[in-house]
Amino acid sequence: MIRHLFLLFIAAIKVHINQFIPLPVQKKLSEKRILKTIHHAYDTIPYYREKYDKAGVDIKSIRSIRDLKKVPFITKDEIRENFPDKIVKKGVDIDKCHYSATTGSTGRSLPFVFSQKTFAYYMMTSLRVYTMIGYRPWHKLVYVKYTAIKTPRFGPFFRTAHIPSTITIGEQIAMLLKEKPDLLVGYASLIYEIAQRITTDQLQTLHIKIIGVNSEMSTQDQRDFISQRFGCPVYDEYSTEETWMITSQCKKHRYHLFIDNVWVEFLDKDGNDVLPGEIGEMVLTTTRSDVMPFIRYRIGDLGRYTHEKCSCHLGFPLIESFDGRADDSFILPSGKYISSLKVLNTFTKFIKNHLHLMEEFKVIQEQKDLIVIYLVKGKEYDETVFQGLIDVLHGIMGEPVTIKLAFVESIDYKGSIKRKAIESRVGK
Ligand SMILES: [Zn+2]
Repeated sequence: MIRHLFLLFIAAIKVHINQFIPLPVQKKLSEKRILKTIHHAYDTIPYYREKYDKAGVDIKSIRSIRDLKKVPFITKDEIRENFPDKIVKKGVDIDKCHYSATTGSTGRSLPFVFSQKTFAYYMMTSLRVYTMIGYRPWHKLVYVKYTAIKTPRFGPFFRTAHIPSTITIGEQIAMLLKEKPDLLVGYASLIYEIAQRITTDQLQTLHIKIIGVNSEMSTQDQRDFISQRFGCPVYDEYSTEETWMITSQCKKHRYHLFIDNVWVEFLDKDGNDVLPGEIGEMVLTTTRSDVMPFIRYRIGDLGRYTHEKCSCHLGFPLIESFDGRADDSFILPSGKYISSLKVLNTFTKFIKNHLHLMEEFKVIQEQKDLIVIYLVKGKEYDETVFQGLIDVLHGIMGEPVTIKLAFVESIDYKGSIKRKAIESRVGK
């Protein structure tokens, strides 16, 4: 316990100092850590050695960040199949590590381990996401998540409370009123739902200072709505359970990449770097987890980076936008990508102008040229208005695609924790 607290304390200092390091120095340090990670993985992790030898990688020739491209990608399936014997550092007792697994939106879970030191560092990068938007140790943090996180208690400091994501919205609102958070964090769709359902009287008893949304894609319109209802700023963050914190919005609402923790490449379909402002597949390399590093890990998410500078104090580079999960984006007959965020935005905009047009919806791309909208009609459903939405979607696609409408009583999420409104079944 004392060792754990000591590790947390050291990590807290480290991560908070790191944010002030100027970008050029930051990049140099990251590059060093990437090279160290690759060489270390080759020396100590059987699967990486086997994989690199097979691919003909001359490990001695990996000497600069440009050489990163010589190293092959690794996928979730490879990690899953080789866990733990061949993908965890030799000689490590995994019982002494922090063990976890992703819940897996594909229905298959991915197990992984972090050393206690890495886990302490990761926990503190989560804390930094909140301190950089105004969270202070005396604030109360309430989070909406499917499970509770074990956090040490420090009397009046670092107080937390958990609201389960699986209880009813009414129960969640009741818990929120009881816990009275200063900082509220959780799934975007759930907080959005709370914002829609909570009454003005109930809102008056709450004095939330900051809201952080995570774990799933949210649109600016959704965040604006939450912000307006609760009367406080809303910031978005993006992380995965296995690579931890990747990016989040600063006080200026710009997304910074946490390259002290994870390196992100933005690549086209041939594996070449895309230009700033172009959509690229985000490929990750973790640099703080020597027990089980993820090197050139394909998570299937898309984004655009930029060389622009933010006016805040952070020394981390920026990304311009997120373009949704690659596996949720649509691939059209011509091979063109359509961001799922764009489709989602279209719905949000229509809902904003026609509040009771629809109760709920789900859009599934069944085939490259066939999209089906499952719709639970709202009490003011109007065929002409909805046709207008379909016309906008046709405009976004920009090529011949059939969009079918199917009326349903309810949307079945098949028990998944993250509710996906936009889904593509093409190429799976
Ligand atoms: Zn910033």
